[in-house]
Amino acid sequence: MNRRKALKGVGIGVSAGLFLPSLLTSCKDDEEPKPAINYDGTVIIIGAGAAGLYTADLLVSQGVDVVILEAGDRIGGRVKSVRSFADFPVELGADVLKSQDSLFLQRIQELNLNTVQVGTDRENIFFFNGQALPAADWQNHADFVAAQNFINNIPAYGGDDKTILQAAREAGLDVSVYGFIEGQAADPLGTDINKAGINGIKNSLNLPANNEAIALANNPLEDIFFSVFNHLIERVHFNTSVTSIDYSGEEVTVETTNGSFLGNKVVVTVPVSILKSGSINFVPALPDSKKAALSRIGMDAAFKVFIKFNKNFWGLNTYKIYGGNVVPVYTSVGPELSVSNRTLMIEVFGQDAEILRVLSDEDLKSTILNDLDNIFDGKASLNNDISELIRMDWTGEENIQGGYSYPLVGGSDEDRTTLAEDIDTKVYFAGEAASVKYGTLDGAFDSGAATVQTIITHIQEEQPQ
Ligand SMILES: Cc1cc2nc3c(=O)[nH]c(=O)nc-3n(C[C@H](O)[C@H](O)[C@H](O)COP(=O)(O)OP(=O)(O)OC[C@H]3O[C@@H](n4cnc5c(N)ncnc54)[C@H](O)[C@@H]3O)c2cc1C
Repeated sequence: MNRRKALKGVGIGVSAGLFLPSLLTSCKDDEEPKPAINYDGTVIIIGAGAAGLYTADLLVSQGVDVVILEAGDRIGGRVKSVRSFADFPVELGADVLKSQDSLFLQRIQELNLNTVQVGTDRENIFFFNGQALPAADWQNHADFVAAQNFINNIPAYGGDDKTILQAAREAGLDVSVYGFIEGQAADPLGTDINKAGINGIKNSLNLPANNEAIALANNPLEDIFFSVFNHLIERVHFNTSVTSIDYSGEEVTVETTNGSFLGNKVVVTVPVSILKSGSINFVPALPDSKKAALSRIGMDAAFKVFIKFNKNFWGLNTYKIYGGNVVPVYTSVGPELSVSNRTLMIEVFGQDAEILRVLSDEDLKSTILNDLDNIFDGKASLNNDISELIRMDWTGEENIQGGYSYPLVGGSDEDRTTLAEDIDTKVYFAGEAASVKYGTLDGAFDSGAATVQTIITHIQEEQPQ
C-alpha cells in the first residue's frame, strides 16, 4: 500500500512520515490501513504552540486520540505573523530558524516553500567611540578586538559559572564594549548581560558562533502553522486555561477555566514562565528535581518592534547595528526579504524590554529616533521620520509572560533534560524550555518529537503482551 494513503487512512498525520519514520506502520498491499499503535486512551495536550501542535500531530498520525487545551484564542503561541504592515511578512515572535538541522525546516522544504539565509552577505555596524563603523574598521582597536574574542570564545569557556557580565569583567574588558556584548551574547539569548550563566549558554543555538538565520522568503510562519496543523483545529479547546493537573489517580484530571477534562496522559507545553509562576497547580506537587531545574531556568521580558522609515539611512548592505544606548541591537530587515529595504527590527529583552514596553507609540518613536540619531549623526530624524511602527509586547501576553528561556547562573543543559522527564508515565513536558535547543522553534519541535517517542514507548510497554 502507498504509505501516504495509509497515513491518510489512520487519520492524517501529515508530519509523521517525515519526522518519525521508525514509528510508521508498514502496510502490505492486501491489508486495510490501521493505527500504528493500538491505544484507546486519550492524551491531553496543554498549549497550542509549536510543541503542542507538533506533539498532537505526531500522536494523531499514530492513531492516538488527542485533545488540545489552549488558554488563548489562536494557535501558534510565540509564532505570530502580520502580512499587511510591510512588503514582507512581519514576524512578531520567532522569525528565523537557527539551524539547518531543523525538523520544521524539513517540513517547510517538503512544502516546496522558498527559504533565504538572512544577513550572511551583509555587514554589521558597531557604534563605538562616537563612530558607527563596520567590524573591519575596528580591527586596530584593542578593546573592540578583545570584546569580539570574548564573545567568540564563549563556547570554549572553561571557568566557574558566572554571569556574562562577571566573566567580561574578569577578562578585563573595557566597560565601553559591554553594550556590544549585551547585543551579541545576551540579547539573542533573551536576557541581560547580568543574568545568563556563561557555562549554561555555551551550546546555545542563539550565540553568534551559530550564525544561521534561515527565513521563509515569502510566507508568514503563522500561515505554515495553519496549513500544516489545520487538521488539528477541531481538537483544540480555545480560551481554556489550565489551572490544575491532578495525576494522583489512575487517570489525569485537568481543571480549566472552561471545565474539567479527563485523560490518560497529559503533555504540558506551556512557557516556562507559566510553570514557574505556579498558576498551574500540580497534584501531587512537581518533584523537587523538576522544581530545582525550573529555578535555574530564566525567562525575561520581551518586546519587539518593526519600524518603517521613509528612507534607509543606515546602509542598504547593513545587517545588524550594535551599540545603541536604548536598543543594544537593531536588525535591518534587508534585501533578502524586503524590496524597499527601509525597515528596522528591534528585539529587546530583560530590562531594555521593561523600559520600552510601557512607552506610548509617540514616546517609543522619539526614543528610538534619538538613539538612532546618536549613532547616525542625526540622520534618523533628518528627512527620515519614522513612517509607521508595529509593536508586540510578549510580556503583556497573559499566557506567555516573556520571551524565551535561558540558563541562569548554575543552570546547564541537564536542567532541560530534567524538565523534559515524565512523571509516572502520566505527565509529560515539552516546549522550547524542555530542549537543549532552548529559546528556539527547533527546540520546541525537537521536544515534541522526543515526547512522542517516549509516550509511544510507554503505551507499548503498557499493552498486555
Ligand atoms: C520576540 C521573540 C522572538 C523569537 N525569535 C525566534 C527566532 O527568530 N527563531 C526561533 O527559533 N525562535 C524564536 N523565538 C522562540 C520561539 O518563538 C519559541 O521557542 C517557540 O515558539 C516556543 O514554542 P512552544 O510551543 O514551546 O511555546 P509557545 O509557543 O509559547 O506555546 C505554548 C502555548 O501554551 C499556551 N498556554 C499558556 N498557559 C496555558 C494554560 N494555563 N493553559 C492552556 N494553555 C496555556 C499559550 O497560550 C501558548 O499558545 C522567539 C520568541 C520571541 C518571544
